[in-house]
Amino acid sequence: ATATGKEKFTQPAGLYVLFLTEMWERFSYYGMRAILILFMTEVATKGGMELSAPEAAAVYALYTSSVYLLSLPGGWLADSVFGQRRTIWYGGITIMLGHIILAIPGDNVVFFCGLAVVAIGTGLLKPNISSIVGELYPEGGSRRDAGFSIFYMGINLGGFLGQTVVAFLGEKVNWHWGFGAAAVGMFIGLVIFKFQGQKHLSQYGNEPKEKIKFSFKTILSVIGILGALAILLIVLHLTHVINAYSPQGLAQVMKWIIIGISCLYFFYILILGNLSLVERKRVVVLMVLFIAAALFWSGFEQAGSSLNLFASRYVDRDFLGSWQVPAGWLQNFNQIFIIIFAPLMAALWINLGRRNLNPNVPAKFALGLILMGLGFLVMVFAAKIVVSGEKAAFTWLIMTYFLHTIGELCLSPVGLSTYTKLAPKQFVSQMMGVWFVAAALGNLFAGLFAGNFDKDNVQQMPDLFMSVVYLGVGSGLFLLVFSKPIKKWMGGVE
Ligand code: GLN
Repeated sequence: ATATGKEKFTQPAGLYVLFLTEMWERFSYYGMRAILILFMTEVATKGGMELSAPEAAAVYALYTSSVYLLSLPGGWLADSVFGQRRTIWYGGITIMLGHIILAIPGDNVVFFCGLAVVAIGTGLLKPNISSIVGELYPEGGSRRDAGFSIFYMGINLGGFLGQTVVAFLGEKVNWHWGFGAAAVGMFIGLVIFKFQGQKHLSQYGNEPKEKIKFSFKTILSVIGILGALAILLIVLHLTHVINAYSPQGLAQVMKWIIIGISCLYFFYILILGNLSLVERKRVVVLMVLFIAAALFWSGFEQAGSSLNLFASRYVDRDFLGSWQVPAGWLQNFNQIFIIIFAPLMAALWINLGRRNLNPNVPAKFALGLILMGLGFLVMVFAAKIVVSGEKAAFTWLIMTYFLHTIGELCLSPVGLSTYTKLAPKQFVSQMMGVWFVAAALGNLFAGLFAGNFDKDNVQQMPDLFMSVVYLGVGSGLFLLVFSKPIKKWMGGVE
């Protein structure tokens, strides 16, 4: 059906159900993430877990990267077993249960289980809720783009509210109250999804797209692959290549698993995918964009790790005299800037496009990387103030988040739509998953990097931040130089 007249401007009622559900899910995700590393590194006398920075950073890395990696099986389960609506519902319930486990004060093992449960639930919910958004607009076009922009606002509104409420309760009242608030948020999302979804989404995502028949052979091959992985892990552990008992060791394993999966997948479709030359070239472009996105997220996603630790320890957060603003609140500037600048940036691209000045996709990615690096240059100055023995003003972090957010707006929405356009037809949904794998890899690095931020490591902070400047600006300039030939390989896709 094509939208006509008035319909062009109004959005389907289902969009608002998905908007509110995702808003509350992101409330719980970003809210909890805002206090996660603070809680893990806080001393036991103040209710924290008293983990060392490298340990806490590795747990954070494992958790945030799993969230995105598990969207691969999450999307697959919806497509082949449950259909999207039921998968979202089960995912939301799982997320809520995970936060309830975190809300109960227990030992470390209970806490890690809670994190794992939240990650599994998010993997079930996140990819499928965005794919239903796409299905609301079979006609595509600008109404669909507007729909996705509204949805992205929901994500950021949720993140803002979550970081505000959860960080306040967690840092000021009790950590576990914070985790409990995240559970309550997800509960509200579930109620809305259940009752409003019945009304407005009844025709979407009821059935799996291609229901899989569980043959003896498929079950055997799944068991075979998992078994081979387990044996490999045990061998690596026994030969002391890795230490599977420590979060740091597991995070290393995770790194190689993600890199391995990505390489195998790209080579598989390049060699065995039966592609034409044009399609092959496009897949090579997708590989380049994959690496660029992973590098970008590895800087950007430090908002919840190293930058959060920095905010909590070294930033002057005094407000109106004696009250200290919770460290988690400073991350809100990402969402505030997104809500202000997303429409302006969209208008800017359209405007430049009219004059044929719109930068091409690789150039936009390059810009994103450079802005990410420049954001860390601001942090180098902030860190130098801290090294000199003073606290840094929070305006430094605001400037960093400003640069990072503009970078996010150059790269993230563009990347999502380019991935769907460049992928060979038969691989579109899998490629969507690969886009999330880039985020998984980035989150892993962003977490692991924070492991360098031990309390007695203050002197090294400017150099640490400087290394991210080199990485972001260097890779960005490199990509910019080659943006023209890369653009050619896109074979006419804009
Ligand atoms: N902030 C966005 C979200 O939560 C994108 C995050 C990402 O892809 N790394 O959906």
